[in-house]
Amino acid sequence: MAPTTDLLKAPKKDTPVFSPENVTVLFVLGGPGAGKGTQCANLVRDYGFTHLSAGDLLRAEQEREGSEFGEMIKEYIRDGKIVPMEVTVQLLENAMTAQVEKDKSGKGKFLIDGFPRKMDQAIKFEETVCPSKFVLFFDCTEEEMQKRLLERGKTSGRADDNAESIMKRFKTFVETSMPVVDYFEKQGRVTPEAVYKETRGKLEQRLGKEF
Ligand code: UDP
Ligand code: MG
Repeated sequence: MAPTTDLLKAPKKDTPVFSPENVTVLFVLGGPGAGKGTQCANLVRDYGFTHLSAGDLLRAEQEREGSEFGEMIKEYIRDGKIVPMEVTVQLLENAMTAQVEKDKSGKGKFLIDGFPRKMDQAIKFEETVCPSKFVLFFDCTEEEMQKRLLERGKTSGRADDNAESIMKRFKTFVETSMPVVDYFEKQGRVTPEAVYKETRGKLEQRLGKEF
């Protein structure tokens, strides 16, 4: 049996690195090609958010010389699978820390684009990095998303903008990522988005004009 002293030293519950009082985090979710990146660019322009795309961070890590995860990330992205959360959560935390330190005020406002797309990531991130204020969800038909992704594939250079990977990404989205949207929805934390004008209205309703 473990000695009493060890029992008393039960591991401390994780506290998030950032307090939601200083740091505003919004998750931006939606299927592949739903328009998350485009809408994020608008929100950056109008509200000065820092935009962090989980996919972009993973692609940068994949390219980084000496990364021990490069090969793994490449495989997961091509197959439309979700990279083990430890990697993605750490990349996001690093990027947020760098930004908050740069800002010096200790404050930050972040759009986390394309994350979390699996339940374990959602829980881990909110417990250890920062809880999200709410979730912007961009809904779009598969037909439209497929059209956009194939079009984008002509110039994006992305290894997953092809018919075969797109099918796999849709499957992962339905089976693995929608449950995350449903989870936040049940907590009343999702605002479904259609057009940008509405997004602005709802954002200001929730956060106020100055935040
Ligand atoms: N990805 C992942 N974990 C994440 C976010 C992205 O593993 O939290 C991987 C996944 O393989 C996904 C790919 O990165 O299909 C591309 O994601 P991105 O958000 O860039 O593209 P989207 O599918 O939203 O168009
Ligand atoms: Mg994107």
